[in-house]
Amino acid sequence: MADAALSSLRKLPSVDQVLRYPAVETAIGHHGRAETTLAVRETLASLRDALRAGGDAADESTIAASVLSLLEARRGSSLKSLFNLTGTVLHTNLGRAILAEEAVEAAVAAMRNAVSLEFDLDDGRRGERDDHVRALVCESTGAEDATIVNNNAAAVLLVLNTLSQDKDAIVSRGELIEIGGAFRMPEIMARAGARLVEVGTTNRTHAKDYRAAFSAQTGLVLKVHTSNYRIEGFTAEVDAPELARIAREHGVPLVNDLGSGTLVDLSCYGLSKEPTVREAVEEGADLVTFSGDKLLGGPQAGFIVGRKDLIAAINRNPMKRALRVDKIRLAACEATLKLYRDPDRLAARLPTLRFLARPAEDIARQAERLAPAITGALGKGVSVEVTSCRSQIGSGALPLETIPSAGLSLTPEGGGKALELLSAALRALPRPVIGHVTGGALVLDLRCLADEEGFVENIAAFQHGRSV
Ligand SMILES: *Cc1c(COP(=O)(O)O)cnc(C)c1O
Repeated sequence: MADAALSSLRKLPSVDQVLRYPAVETAIGHHGRAETTLAVRETLASLRDALRAGGDAADESTIAASVLSLLEARRGSSLKSLFNLTGTVLHTNLGRAILAEEAVEAAVAAMRNAVSLEFDLDDGRRGERDDHVRALVCESTGAEDATIVNNNAAAVLLVLNTLSQDKDAIVSRGELIEIGGAFRMPEIMARAGARLVEVGTTNRTHAKDYRAAFSAQTGLVLKVHTSNYRIEGFTAEVDAPELARIAREHGVPLVNDLGSGTLVDLSCYGLSKEPTVREAVEEGADLVTFSGDKLLGGPQAGFIVGRKDLIAAINRNPMKRALRVDKIRLAACEATLKLYRDPDRLAARLPTLRFLARPAEDIARQAERLAPAITGALGKGVSVEVTSCRSQIGSGALPLETIPSAGLSLTPEGGGKALELLSAALRALPRPVIGHVTGGALVLDLRCLADEEGFVENIAAFQHGRSV
């Protein structure tokens, strides 16, 4: 090592010395001694490495600045609020549904206070957690009874384990879905202790295939909504009403895993029809399972609705305890479900539906409004154009359908690498902006942009990000 580097190393201040720098002492007041000491150690360690590698010595203000920026970086939350401009309204990786204000308030109140979670205020005795949503769910689905668990994957697992442990579960080969992540129907079945009995073929399954599969060992028949794909062409499936008849003839329940399962007819909002939970119940399924944070627009949850005796059996399963929801989500679910009692205002109050129902012209006008500010903020090297695009619902609802939308198409000079840098710079904003890359441009689909002012303010930081 060069003599200069050795002497700089020896001159490096100690941790205690740095902790006594005035700027660092102030930081202790904000961040606490433990955090600040950690940041000082880290700063000195990287300085030492830099000096050994032939870097320059640092003075007091440089060291203090580095400590402060480390502290700031550690203070920020890792679960960041961001602008979902991907064009996918229910984006699983971005947390799916944005909750209604009513649900947010209910969740916050439940967080702050003791609540009547399992406590009957009429007689002062023990109550049931499910009671807070049971009546609401039954009201909007026409089901006899209902229960709620952690998510729809948990709902499916619990139903299979309760009704089909060590028994056969009959499923069409065309419905053995993988939802993404680790949710693969055959694997869930195995974990639930159910024996998978596949019937039919990938593209065609007939009533006779189901009929041939029944035995004394049959626990249930499962119908799965093929959420994220369609089989097209030479196809055949047995519809739910017929399957319900067949299951009933053999004295076993039919379970319909709807996945997204909407509570309202989406065609009222200009979208294609997706089977509603009420329809699935009316079609004769003994149990129906669906998510809380897909089209329903609430927090992560899984609902199981249907026959009273079956729901009672599910509630007696010790696994239910492991899969139950907490007071926060229960409060948010209750508030979300209540919004469905007023269909006229539903789209105005429920963000998921509001976003999905937004007309493309409205979004295009927003894009026109925002274009000048965005152009200004991004500077010369990026061309900004108002563009039409297509959004999708996401989370497996109506997978082939896209909705006409609009947004801003950002094209940086310099091609692929520049596009990557632009995407990264937008992700590095105080509130990250996530778009999607298509045809050499980064497209920001504005369908889900509610806070226009906040967006403009946020993007103004882009210039700063570049100039330092
Ligand atoms: C989304 C989905 C699931 C899983 O639901 P989560 O709420 O993500 O646990 C299960 N089945 C179907 C058909 C789905 O679409």
